[in-house]
Amino acid sequence: MSVEAPIAAGIAEPLRLGLLIGGRELPSERQLEVHNPARHAELVGTVPDATTAEVNTAVDAARTAQPGWAATPVAERVALFERIADELTARADEIATLEARENGSARSIAAREMLGTAGMWREAGAYLASALAPKEHESERGFVRITRKPFGVVGCIVPWNAPLILTVNKIVPAIAAGNAVILKPSPLSPLASSRVAQIAAGILPPGILNVVNGGGEAGAAIVAHRDVRKLSFTGGGETARHIMRQAADTLTGVHFELGGNDPAIVLDDADLAFAAAGIAESAFRRSGQVCFAVKRVYVPRALAREFGELLAARVDQLVIGDPLDEHVTMGPMNNAAQLDHVRQLRARLDGSGRDVRELGHPLTDQGWDDGYFVRPAVVLDAEQGDEIVAVEQFGPILPVVAYDDVEQAIAWANDTEYGLCSSVWSSDQERALAVADRIEAGMTIVNSHLFSRAGTREIPFGGWKQSGIGWEASPYGIDEYLQFHSIDVQAAR
Ligand code: NAD
Repeated sequence: MSVEAPIAAGIAEPLRLGLLIGGRELPSERQLEVHNPARHAELVGTVPDATTAEVNTAVDAARTAQPGWAATPVAERVALFERIADELTARADEIATLEARENGSARSIAAREMLGTAGMWREAGAYLASALAPKEHESERGFVRITRKPFGVVGCIVPWNAPLILTVNKIVPAIAAGNAVILKPSPLSPLASSRVAQIAAGILPPGILNVVNGGGEAGAAIVAHRDVRKLSFTGGGETARHIMRQAADTLTGVHFELGGNDPAIVLDDADLAFAAAGIAESAFRRSGQVCFAVKRVYVPRALAREFGELLAARVDQLVIGDPLDEHVTMGPMNNAAQLDHVRQLRARLDGSGRDVRELGHPLTDQGWDDGYFVRPAVVLDAEQGDEIVAVEQFGPILPVVAYDDVEQAIAWANDTEYGLCSSVWSSDQERALAVADRIEAGMTIVNSHLFSRAGTREIPFGGWKQSGIGWEASPYGIDEYLQFHSIDVQAAR
C-alpha cells in the first residue's frame, strides 16, 4: 500500500492530549503513543498513561461537581446535550478521519459512526424526562413516592474497536441520569473518543466528564476507587472477570458489554443472494472486529455450496488498504495482538484440509507490511466442532456450517458461552420469528445483522451468558445509571 496515501489537510501533526480533569486539560507524568495501524511509522497522537494518583484527582473532581449536576433541571441538561450534538456534528469530518487513522476502520464507516455519536446526545432528550419522573401513589397511611437517583461518580471503560459509539453508549445515559463520569478509552484507539469527550466536557459544567487515558493501571485505579459507585465496561471477558473480582472489594455494581460469537441461520426459503450480501457486509465490517458481527453461518446442507459461492463472491469485492482512501472498504486490523490471533487461526485452518478461500483485493501491492493488513477469508465447509466456529475470531474469517434440519441449526446456534446478537434469514417472517424466538441472545435480527433501524432508539443492547451483564442504548440504557429512592410518607399518628 502506498505510504503516499492521501492525508487530509491539517491532520498530519500528531494530536497531543492531556488529562481532562475538572474541565481543564492537565499534563500527565507519562505518555502513550498512538500509531496508525495502516502505517506503523505514522504517529497519530499521544495521550496520557494516567497514574493511580491522577485517576484519584479525577474522581475527586467528579465527586465535587456531581451534586450540582444532579440538581440541574432536566430541560437544562437536554439543552446542553443539544449543543453538544450540534458541535459534534460540525466537527464530524475531523473526528471521523482521526478515528480512521488511529483505529483502522474505513473512513466511511467512521463517518457513519460519528453521526450516531452526535445523535446519541440528542436522543437522550426523548427519554430523560420520563426516566426521571417520580411516581406517587396513595398508601394506607399516606402516600409513597418513588424517585430514581444517580449513583454519583460512574467509571466508564471502553475498548478500541468502535470507540466513538461505545463511548457515548455509556457516557450519555450516565451523565443524563445526573452522574459525573470518569472515562477511560482504550490505549489502542483513544484519540477520537477523547476528542468527543473534550468537546462535550467544554459544554457541560466542569468536572461532570473527566477523561483519564491509560492502560491497565488507570483502569484498575478506577475500579478500585471507593467513590466510584458504578462501573460500566465494554471489552473482553478476561478483563471483565478481573474487574468483577476487584469490584467485590467495594461491592461496586458492574455493567458489562462483552464478546460474542453471533450465529446467522439461513432458512431454506431465504433469498440466498440477499442473505449472502447481508451476511458478508456484517461479518467483515471493521475487518470483523465488531462484537456483534456475524461470526458463523448455518445453511441447509442442500444449499450450503451455492450459498458459500455467493458469499465468497461478495467477500471478494472487498478492497483492502488505507482507511482514508475512498475506494477502501476494509482497513487493517487495529493492533498486533489481534493480527497475530487471526494469523494463528488461519495457520491452523490452512493445515486442516478445509475449503478456505482467501479473498478481497489489496488497493495496491505496496506497503502491505507497513500496516496490520490481512486478507478476508471464508471457510466453506466448516463443521460445528471446528475451532473457527467455537471461538470469537474478532477478525475477517467467516465459517459456513451445513445443517440437516432447523432443530439442529438452533441447537448449534445456542451451543456457545456467548449470547450477544444473532440473525435469521428467510422470506417468511412468521417462520423466521419462530426460529428467532428460540435463540439465546440479547438480540436477533430477521433478514439483517448488525444493521437495525430500530437499533439504539428502541432496542436495549446487551448480551446473555458470557456476553454481558446489563443493557445499553435505547431508553432502557439509562436504567444502569439510576437507583431507586422510595419514600413512604405515613400519617404522624
Ligand atoms: P480489553 O478487555 O482488553 O480492554 C477493554 C478496556 O479495558 C480497555 O480500555 C483497557 O485498557 C481496559 N483494561 C485493561 N485492563 C484493565 C483492568 N485491569 N482494569 C480495568 N480496565 C482494564 O478489550 P479490547 O481488546 O479493548 O476489546 C475487544 C473485546 O471487546 C472483544 O472481546 C469484543 O467482543 C468486546 N466488545 C464488546 C462489545 C459489546 O458491546 N458487547 C463491543 C465492543 C467490543
